[in-house]
Amino acid sequence: MPGGPPRLVRLSDYVGHYASTRPESEAVVFGAQRLTYAQLDLEVDRCARALARAGVGLGDRVAMLTTPRTEFIVTLMATLRLGAVWIGINPRYRLEEMAHILDDSRPRVFLSLLRDPDGRDYRPDLVALKARPWVSPFEIITFPDRDDAIGPSLADLIQEAQGDCRPAPHTASPTDAAVIVYTSGTTGRPKGAVLGHGALVYAYEAVSRSFVGKEYVREGMRILCNLPPNHIGCLSEMVGNTIIRGGALILADRFNPAEAIAAIARERVTVFGGVPAMLQMVVQDPAFATADLSSLKMIGWGGAPAPAGLVSILAGTGAHLFTNYGLTEGGAIVSATPPDSDLETLATTVGAPVDLMEHRLALEEGGLAPPGEIGEIQLRGPGLFLGYWNDPAATAAALTRDGWLKTGDLAYATPEGLWTLKGRRGEMFKSGGYNIYPREIEQALEEHPDVALATVVEIPDPLYFEVGHAFVCAHPGARPSERALIAHLKERLANYKAPKRIHVLAAMPMLPIGKVDKHRLREIARGGAA
Ligand code: AMP
Repeated sequence: MPGGPPRLVRLSDYVGHYASTRPESEAVVFGAQRLTYAQLDLEVDRCARALARAGVGLGDRVAMLTTPRTEFIVTLMATLRLGAVWIGINPRYRLEEMAHILDDSRPRVFLSLLRDPDGRDYRPDLVALKARPWVSPFEIITFPDRDDAIGPSLADLIQEAQGDCRPAPHTASPTDAAVIVYTSGTTGRPKGAVLGHGALVYAYEAVSRSFVGKEYVREGMRILCNLPPNHIGCLSEMVGNTIIRGGALILADRFNPAEAIAAIARERVTVFGGVPAMLQMVVQDPAFATADLSSLKMIGWGGAPAPAGLVSILAGTGAHLFTNYGLTEGGAIVSATPPDSDLETLATTVGAPVDLMEHRLALEEGGLAPPGEIGEIQLRGPGLFLGYWNDPAATAAALTRDGWLKTGDLAYATPEGLWTLKGRRGEMFKSGGYNIYPREIEQALEEHPDVALATVVEIPDPLYFEVGHAFVCAHPGARPSERALIAHLKERLANYKAPKRIHVLAAMPMLPIGKVDKHRLREIARGGAA
């Protein structure tokens, strides 16, 4: 972009760049904490020394369970500065979900928040993780405080490392691993998508390409950042895109509609976005009608379509609206609606593919979909992941032989060249912006001693876009209650994965070929007779 930021490799390089060119610009706001770029750069440097003292070097993994808060930004940037690889663990995960990621990624250190803002205490989980035998042991570091039963705090480590030398500088390339984003998968267990520095910078370039020359993306960006830090949308669209522009991140460590509205007004937020379910809750909050939202220049959403009613309420704010489509493995922003799109375009399409990547709509039987016909979105280019961590078979299955990513998303192109999504190949569904894979939930249900067989299907939901319904058949003589099964699931899986209802059936409806009749189950879930 003419007159825009320079081309640097790592997000952390931009922190250093703005620390020298605009040291007094605000970079991070979290409650009463405020850091300018000069201060952020200093904190990143101190944190990098502390991580180096804890043994983190080139290519090592740094796992972190955190909400959006200052330690997240500082540790992420310090990790990248060291040439190490950052891994976010969703703060909603339960013990076994955390253990899987730690076991799979083999980090050098695991940094964890002690309590979340809603009162969840992570200490029992951390004590249990510390006691386990690990093939590749790691140190647990806590924040914001220390806990003697667990290990040192980040603040202690930073204090101790103050006299240490700066870690030796190194040259990074866009294809060096920067972060690993764990996404649930068809086989049940989350897989780690490895993203290079180039893929993180790509999201910024994609936004710039879609809104080139628009004053509202160039100047004084202040974004409300309230997505989980382990999600690609938080890492590249929110954090990366803002830091590359030298903007300010207004961090909110949980999503609460009234708090989001108050933060927009108080901090003069210019860019606000999230998944449609979040925006829906914001517009339904009584404070929405009266709050001063005049600072907002852009409101965006992705992850699921926004209903037309929501789009027209958002238009009433006077902000520019946009939606985009993207995915962890293929670049956070693959397509985006053109600036100043009308409401129908915003509600029914995911915009035009960004021309930084090769893209095509492929037919299942081979060849490309003719104009107006549905095909699978396939991608090749700089936004793509580097592969799944330690899983070459899964990586190979995600790509065609000539390197196109098979997204699983089905779409057709309108005569104007905009994509309309028409569903997915495979089993995944979306709930509140999260990808849900039925097999992961079915497996967890089948671990219950009373459950012989479990099947999970999705049905439409006005707020969350889709929600899951589970159907179980019990072992002979067993009579599990829905409550007991939900409690069983919530011990094992993040709460957003728990189905809305669990129906106990005497027998699963079957298709003549011996497969479970999911179509029939969806009818039952929608209220049809069992
Ligand atoms: P994730 O990897 O968590 O970012 O999820 C990516 C998936 O979310 C995509 O493969 C799509 O199925 C879905 N998705 C992303 N953006 C949109 C959108 N704007 N509308 C509908 N579905 C979307």
